[in-house]
Amino acid sequence: MRAFVHTSHPSRVIFGAGSAAGVADEVRRLGGTRVLLLGGAHVDAQATLVEEILGPLMVARFDGAEMHTPVVVTERVIVSMAEHYVDAIVAVGGGSTTGLSKALALRSGLDQVILPTTYAGSEVTPVLGETSEGVKVTRSSREILPETVIYDVDFTATMPIPLAVTSAINALAHAVEALYSEHANPVVDALAVESISAIGRGLPALGADLADREGRSDLLLAAWLAGTCLASVGMGLHHKICHVLGGSFGLPHAAVHTVMLPHVMAYNAVSVPRVMERIADALVTPTAPAGVYDLIAAAGGPTTLAELGMAEADLDEAARLATEKPYPNPREVTRVGVRRLLGEAFAGTRPE
Ligand code: NAD
Repeated sequence: MRAFVHTSHPSRVIFGAGSAAGVADEVRRLGGTRVLLLGGAHVDAQATLVEEILGPLMVARFDGAEMHTPVVVTERVIVSMAEHYVDAIVAVGGGSTTGLSKALALRSGLDQVILPTTYAGSEVTPVLGETSEGVKVTRSSREILPETVIYDVDFTATMPIPLAVTSAINALAHAVEALYSEHANPVVDALAVESISAIGRGLPALGADLADREGRSDLLLAAWLAGTCLASVGMGLHHKICHVLGGSFGLPHAAVHTVMLPHVMAYNAVSVPRVMERIADALVTPTAPAGVYDLIAAAGGPTTLAELGMAEADLDEAARLATEKPYPNPREVTRVGVRRLLGEAFAGTRPE
């Protein structure tokens, strides 16, 4: 018998191509009458379409969300929200824009409608990471969880292949680590396996044809499922290493996930062989770590920490930081072991 505890985080999810058309109805459904719209530089077309659909419901727009949700930006927007008597937030963008929306909702108590444009998954988690004077603080609360998410497959179509690949592998990492989390349970397992197989279908389809709507749909579905896993269970060594490489060495978030995942999976495989079998089955590949590596390499990478700008001389320090306060992980986390896997990720060797 398998005993478990499962906590779900309720949000209303609308999925489809062209589903952004329903954004004004969703705002009204929540009782919103004066919307702040959050957009961004690379998603201007999507945000402007949402602006048109909102019509007179929109009273203010802000396009300046930054990575890691700086508190100074949030505080500036909060002042503007009060000036415009805003009573609902609509956000169009990746994890950074969603982060700003969550930070505003935490401070104002207002409802959020999120239209994701990447596969980050933040839109279905009650977690917010924000930075003040260089220090990142993560918190979790009901107010942070967005009320409604509109997944419009067409909103992800502008992602160039390198961003689509790294963002999809970021989602894959949530699903993989959920399967061996100490909080894993049958609901999360099912979501994770479905997410992994959708990524296994979607990435090659997108590589063959950037305009492939079915491939985009598979990846966006996978992002939602993986985000739901992230919201429900704790993450392990892979996420710890990525937080260290992103936070202390400034490497790009999704790209670090992409390079590290096959190597951390190879490290953990000896402790969770059955989980690796499930991942391999979902990806229709003989072994999970090499299968994930091949999926990434076939989609164009990245596969090495070196190409992300990591200095080889910093690997020792990265191993020290990543093992200082380890997240729960199926295999014991040792400094020697982590240093070895960082070396393999630096060089980009295919895990056997
Ligand atoms: P991001 O939002 O910073 O976007 C990356 C880049 O892609 C940006 O330049 C953005 O303008 C551009 N972009 C976004 N959508 C695009 C599109 N459709 N077409 C072209 N360009 C597009 O990055 P992200 O990977 O989406 O999110 C990463 C952030 O989200 C990190 O700060 C991470 O910590 C956070 N995150 C938080 C959670 C959580 O639960 N709190 C979960 C996942 C990620």
